[in-house]
Parts: sequence; C-alpha cells; structure tokens
Amino acid sequence: MRVHDSLIELMGDTPLVRLRKVTTGISAQVLAKVEYFNPGGSVKDRIALRMVEAAERSGALRPGGTIVEPTSGNTGIGLAIVAQDRGYRCLFVVPDKVAQDKINVLRAYGAEVVVCPTAVSPDHPNSYYSVSDRLVREVPNAWKPDQYSNPENPESHYRSTGPEIWEQTEGRITHFVAGVGTGGTISGTGRYLKEVSGGRVQIIGADPEGSVYSGGSGRPYLVEGVGEDFWPATYDTKIADRIVAVSDKDSFWMTRRLAREEALLVGGSCGMAVVAALRVAAEAGPDAVVVVLLPDGGRGYLSKIFNDDWMADYGFLTSSSEEGLVGDVL
Ligand code: PMP
Repeated sequence: MRVHDSLIELMGDTPLVRLRKVTTGISAQVLAKVEYFNPGGSVKDRIALRMVEAAERSGALRPGGTIVEPTSGNTGIGLAIVAQDRGYRCLFVVPDKVAQDKINVLRAYGAEVVVCPTAVSPDHPNSYYSVSDRLVREVPNAWKPDQYSNPENPESHYRSTGPEIWEQTEGRITHFVAGVGTGGTISGTGRYLKEVSGGRVQIIGADPEGSVYSGGSGRPYLVEGVGEDFWPATYDTKIADRIVAVSDKDSFWMTRRLAREEALLVGGSCGMAVVAALRVAAEAGPDAVVVVLLPDGGRGYLSKIFNDDWMADYGFLTSSSEEGLVGDVL
C-alpha cells in the first residue's frame, strides 16, 4: 500500500512552479518554491521538525513536556503537528496583529494560545517575547524552541530547502529571493547555495519598508511573518548580497495578483517576496533563473488582504484602476 505513517514524513520536498503571468515583459525565468505544500501549510514545518528532534536528542525536551514559543502562527502549526505525533503539549504566544483565522487554526490543532499587544517594545513585560519567557519559567517541564536564536532553524534550511532547490534547478539557479523574518530561511538556504555554487548564486532578502533589515527602525507594517525591530541571532548579516524593501501596498497587490493570475492563493509575505524577485529578474538577463520562496498559503488572510473593505480601510484600494495599481508594483 502507498501509505505514510505520519504527516511528518511529508514535510519538505515542495515543488518549484514557474510564474508565467506576473512575469510578463521579463526575460529571466522566475520559479516559485511553494511551501504551502507542507502538511502544516508553511515553510515552518521544516524548522519545527528539526528543532524538536534536536531538543529530544539533547534532553532539553523530555517526554510529556510542554513546548512554549512566541510564534506568528506558522511555526506554531508545525510545532503542533510534531507535538501531536510525539505527545507534547503546546503553549503559544502571538502578537495581536496576527489574523484571527491563524489563531483559530492553532487552537484547532489542540494548542493553547496567549495573545499579546504588538505596539509595545520587545522588552516590555507584555510583549510576546517577555510573556513567553515568563511562561517557560513558570510551566513545569517547559522547553522554548526559540526560533529567533535556535541554530537548528537556519540549519534545517541548509539541509533541506537549499539542497532541494539546487537539485530541482539542476544547479542552474542564479538568484535566490526570500523574505526575512527570523532570517532562518535566507541564512540556511543562502549558505548552502553559496557553498555549492562557489559563491555564484546571488542571495536577495525581501523586507517590509520600515523593518531593520532594510535600514528602518522597526516602524509598524502590516505584512505578517517578515521584518523585525531587532536583529535575531538566526539571521546571518553577511548572507544577503542585496536587500529589497517593499511597501505593504505593493506586497498585498502582488499577493492578490498571484491568486488571480497564477492560481497561487498565498500569504502577504509571498507577494512581498515576488515583488522583490520581479525587480531582481527585470534587471537580470534572459539566462537568469530566479527562485523565490513562497512561505505560506492565503487561507489565513481571507479577511484581510483578500477583503476589499480591509484593504480600503488601510488606503490600499484607491480609485485608480487595478491595472494602474499593479503597474506601481514594478
Ligand atoms: N513569511 C511568513 C508568513 C512567515 O511566517 C515567516 C516566518 N517568520 C517568514 C515569511 C520568514 O521566514 P524566516 O523566519 O525563515 O526568515
């Protein structure tokens, strides 16, 4: 019988799909690594599995233990799936800007979720970082994966995402584009691709305007899962050859185009990464093979990015024609 014993066996090995419509006028190939094919629906399944397995090996996570983590949702889903398989309890801390749908998903998997304010500094006692630290101290037998400092986060990409892309493109990739949150994806995948290509592959980070990676101060932006107001240890500050800053509006419009034109119903950080990838591809020649990683699916954003009222409330819908707005993106 063709059967998998656990969903965990299905983590990774995601497909590479050519973007054919949003690339009109661009001669370079632009290929999307579609991470919503992971069982938890995002790239974060990869780090969840590797962080848990490393903690089991080191003894940091013991049988019957509780996983406590500040997560914007996707890492939580990955951890919840691995935790179910291995019999751990999950306690997640999320900022209040995260879509309610995402929180509901975490609870559906059986996790407990604490919601904290976004508009406070990371060292404020109510910030989602501080609250998770307090829970780790107070909950017995608790383990915090800490995706922002855990070396297994970039390592999972060095061992899976990077080799997959190299093999799928038969070594022809010239540019790798990824949004930067913890920096795990770009640092681990980027390190592998730099090593295997002898430094030939260009690594490009996509960042929301206002975030530290593109020179901002951490000013609030609405795209979820990417950008930071501090420098996490999981981000290799030397890995990116270039950082491209993208506005919320451009990110969200491209996200909507990906659903309508490429049938890729993906999240806002995917739209952001594609805007950066198209800017890079437009400057590169016809021989360029640009791979852009799309971290998650769009179901968690139906009441936001895909909702006209929400878009209008933030001024992202104007009286200009859709074509006019789309033209602004490039
Ligand atoms: N997009 C989304 C939706 C995410 O949840 C994350 C993870 N924070 C990222 C992009 C960025 O990935 P990384 O943390 O590996 O930099």
